[in-house]
Order: sequence, then structure tokens, then C-alpha cells
Amino acid sequence: MKLFKCQVCNYIHTGNEAPERCPKCGAPREKFVELNEEETTKVVRSEFTNGLHMELYNILQEVEDISDAGIEDDLDPGCVAIFHKAKEQALLLRKMIVAELEIHMKKGKWGVE
Ligand SMILES: [Zn+2]
Repeated sequence: MKLFKCQVCNYIHTGNEAPERCPKCGAPREKFVELNEEETTKVVRSEFTNGLHMELYNILQEVEDISDAGIEDDLDPGCVAIFHKAKEQALLLRKMIVAELEIHMKKGKWGVE
């Protein structure tokens, strides 16, 4: 399997050859260059980390939903305090993940370079 990068928009294509047109920016096949082994390793590496971020993000979304249910249930102040705290932390972590992924994208770490 090979990786090809669009030199116009940095889109990465996976396959045996470059696509006819870039699905992201529409650039023709000639604009694609094949990544070398070192570059390919970097892309695979950052895709793995980004995938973990997304997984964590989804779990945190669940934590927020559970916390909302707990807050609504309102059994006693001790329980509600924990649910509020959990929600607060989950929200903070989700914001941090989004910020980090934005940095990755700017640095070209979202499946590029
Ligand atoms: Zn492109």
C-alpha cells in the first residue's frame, strides 16, 4: 500500500496509485506525489494518535451524557456533586482534544507530512 499526497491541499490518498482527481480540492493526478517510507511512517503514526483522540472524545461525550442523567436523577447532593464534577472535567478534556487536533491539522499532522 502506498500513500500519495496532493501538493495543492495536502490531502493524503491511500492506494496503489494516485486518484484521478483530488477528492478534496479537485486537483488532477499530476499534482500528487508519492510519499517516501519516512513520510509514510509519520502519517501512520499521527493517524494512530489522532484516532485515539477521537476515541477518547467519544467516551467523554458518554461521560457527559451519564453525568446529565445523574444530575437530573438528583438523588442527593453528594451524587449530584460527583456528576457535576465529571461533566466539568469531561467538557474540559473535550475542549483540550479539539484544540490539540486543531494544532495537529495546522502542523500537517492530520494524515499529512
Ligand atoms: Zn487536493
